[in-house]
Amino acid sequence: DDALSGEALNDEGRVEASLRPRSFDEYVGQSAVVDKLRVYVQAARSRGEALDHCLFSGPPGLGKTSLAYLMATELGVGIHVTSGPALERKGDLAGLLTNLNERDILFIDEVHRLNAAIEEYLYPAMEDFRLDITIDTGPAARAMKIDLPPFTLIGATTRTGLLTSPLRDRFQIQERLEYYEPKHLEMILNRSARILGVKLERDGAREISTRARGTPRIANRLLRRLRDFAQVEGDGTITRELASQALTRLGVDASGLDAMDRKILLAILEKFGGGPVGVETIAASVGEQRDTIEDVYEPYLLQEGFLQRTPRGRTATHRAYTYFNKKAPESAQG
Ligand code: ATP
Repeated sequence: DDALSGEALNDEGRVEASLRPRSFDEYVGQSAVVDKLRVYVQAARSRGEALDHCLFSGPPGLGKTSLAYLMATELGVGIHVTSGPALERKGDLAGLLTNLNERDILFIDEVHRLNAAIEEYLYPAMEDFRLDITIDTGPAARAMKIDLPPFTLIGATTRTGLLTSPLRDRFQIQERLEYYEPKHLEMILNRSARILGVKLERDGAREISTRARGTPRIANRLLRRLRDFAQVEGDGTITRELASQALTRLGVDASGLDAMDRKILLAILEKFGGGPVGVETIAASVGEQRDTIEDVYEPYLLQEGFLQRTPRGRTATHRAYTYFNKKAPESAQG
């Protein structure tokens, strides 16, 4: 069992949608980003123009999709949703773009996974709201330009560095979402508990908030699991004790690290002498995709000071040794 990385079930997808913040006011935290977006949205609205294209980056589950949806609401426009890997042919993109109403949002998740041909096709659409298409083949072939309604492209990606620079440069607004502080996760948990009808004590919420890897999606997922424990093994209320014990049973420790976090750190410590070691080598050693390590695990371990990045690879910090009750070598940092 793995409460953290399991495939999203349909039911889970539905619950997640029901927990989505619907407006800037309901969107907790990320104030550095949200305060700016409020201004851009208001300005675009009052000019009656499409908002400039936006690129949101950050680890999965931090609320990029939620932000795109609520911006459509705040702008009073429609939103059309797709993803980089889903857009296989130019025709797919042309179909979407020509169906947009003026000022609508086109949301492309995993925008770094667009193929090169589609990407090039997208440039004039983003820049001049124009599609260049070729009609017919052979000697009869001719180029045509189709005018598109002004629209806003919102792209989401785990790392902006994965985008080609011509694509990245065409997003006038670029914002990075950060991991949430526990106090913000606590607010999100309280709201989710209300919506789900779960009794969540204050200390219970605090316990989950410090063990959810700074990620709202994980916090909400843990809340649903703890609700089960509370119902079956408790009196229906999520208390601090219940949360603490159940989280440990779910493989989430007191520092909020999960089984894969620990596996990665242990590999670096025990198989590679504390590093430096390349991410490819780590990935092979723990049996996880390199991208997943770089997008999901590493950013959190870096932020929490368990890992450091050096030009020669990743190294374990002092904190990582202490965490496993190991003696750190003189050279260990952090
Ligand atoms: P991915 O990158 O995988 O698409 P995401 O960053 O787009 O993930 P969302 O699907 O938007 O993440 O968010 C996951 C869930 O977390 C949402 O259903 C919502 O309940 C909750 N959530 C995310 N951000 C916030 C927030 N700022 N305030 C309240 N709830 C949030």
